[in-house]
Formats: sequence, structure tokens, C-alpha cells
Amino acid sequence: MAMIDIKDVNKWYGTFQVLTDCSTSVEKGQVIVVCGPSGSGKSTLIKCVNALEPFQKGTITVDGVSVGDPKTDLPKLRSRIGMVFQNFELFPHMSVQANLTIGQMKVLGRTRDQADEHGLKYLDRVGLKAHAHKFPGQLSGGQQQRVAIARALSMDPIAMLFDEPTSALDPEMINEVLDVMVELAREGMTMMCVTHEMGFAKTVAHRVIFMDKGQIVEDCSKADFFGTTRSERAQSFLSKIL
Ligand code: ADP
Ligand code: MG
Repeated sequence: MAMIDIKDVNKWYGTFQVLTDCSTSVEKGQVIVVCGPSGSGKSTLIKCVNALEPFQKGTITVDGVSVGDPKTDLPKLRSRIGMVFQNFELFPHMSVQANLTIGQMKVLGRTRDQADEHGLKYLDRVGLKAHAHKFPGQLSGGQQQRVAIARALSMDPIAMLFDEPTSALDPEMINEVLDVMVELAREGMTMMCVTHEMGFAKTVAHRVIFMDKGQIVEDCSKADFFGTTRSERAQSFLSKIL
């Protein structure tokens, strides 16, 4: 069974159809890269996966749990899916350590000691243990994004969703975040990553999805995607970003 299964998903914002018949799946341990022009529905699609956005037609299941089923415990489901956004979204008034522990204590019921130990382990993994007592504003963008990843990991997620995690960063900070993501991928994390970092896709993606105007236009192995079989629309998009 797929870890994330998206079937015939359609979504409208009012009368505007933002997603049309989107279907794909991510197996456990797979890394899927989602790319496509601005406004093609990439963010909307991954927000549907953890129910940050409702959809009107189709089904999405995560680890067998149906996201659109009104009986599903959405806060519980969301607590199992890590999400990393373009703009980090750390709590600015809390220290790094508090950012790492609050969800673990409030949502998972861990004690402060347990949460500290767990959070610091992940902070160490992203190379920022020495910064635990700083506030987000005292860190660079790349460091803040690594804290955001550590925070998501400290909830022991079954899958991670990334929405353009490096696109707000200065160029020299992009690699420090991608390195963490590559390591995570190699450890077998199930990941759905919206990104235009094609080097990342070439290194770790199992499949690449190309979206345009709310549709999944291509969903293929990276060899096929970067090879010769891709559609004209994907080719023209790639020629602009590569
Ligand atoms: P992408 O992430 O690929 O840039 P989005 O999923 O953010 O695309 O947006 C897809 C389309 O939906 C865009 O045309 C955008 O303007 C529109 N859209 C996004 N969010 C909303 C919203 N809350 N209300 C209405 N339209 C929206
Ligand atoms: Mg987006």
C-alpha cells in the first residue's frame, strides 16, 4: 500500500478549478519531486495531503487513513506528517529549543525532558546544536530552515512534505538545506518535495511530477523526466530553469 495515495483529486476555489483529476502515489521510502510553473497548483496539492486545504472530489489517503473522511482525526493525522514551508514559519518569539519542543509536548504529550532530548538530537543532526538558545531572528535563513526541518522531524513523522524549502534563501544557503534533505532521503524518509532544485531531483528523487494549470502532466522516473520522453510543456519549463 502506498504511503500517500492521491486519486482523481479535484479542487475549486469558488468557481476557479485549481486541481483537475490529480492522481499519483508515493510509496514508503520514496522521494517524489513536484515541479511546474508558478500557479500550477503545486502548493495546493501538497496542502491537500495534510488537509491544510479541503478538496471537493477524489480521495487522498496517508498510511491508509482517508484525509477527506469527516470521521478522520485530522489533528492526529497532521501530527504524523511533517511540513516545511518556503518561509520557515518558526515561532519568532520562542527560542529554537522551544520551537522544537512545543509540538512534541502539546500534541504528542511528551514531557519537557523527553521533548528536549529528542529535539536536541535532531538539532544536532542538522548541525545547529550550539544554537538551541537563540531566537529565530538571530539565525540566517538557511539555519532557520534547518531548524524547521529538525522541528518537523522531532515529531517522528511518517512522511515529510516540502513546499519550495529553498526558494526564499540566498544562493549560498541553499545547499546547506538541500544537504539535510538529501541525507533524509537516503535514510529512507517518504518525501513529497515541491522544488525547482533539479540537482536535488537528479540526486535522490525516485519520480518527478510536472504540473501545469492544475493538472499532473508528467509523472515518471527521473531517468525519463530528464531524458527525452518529456512533454513539450515540461521541456519548455525546464529550459527556463536549468
Ligand atoms: P503553485 O504552488 O504551483 O505556485 P498554488 O497551488 O499556490 O500554485 O496556486 C494555484 C492557483 O490557485 C493559482 O492560480 C493561485 O492564484 C490560486 N490560489 C491559490 N490559493 C488560493 C486561494 N486561497 N483562493 C483562491 N485562489 C487561490
Ligand atoms: Mg507554491
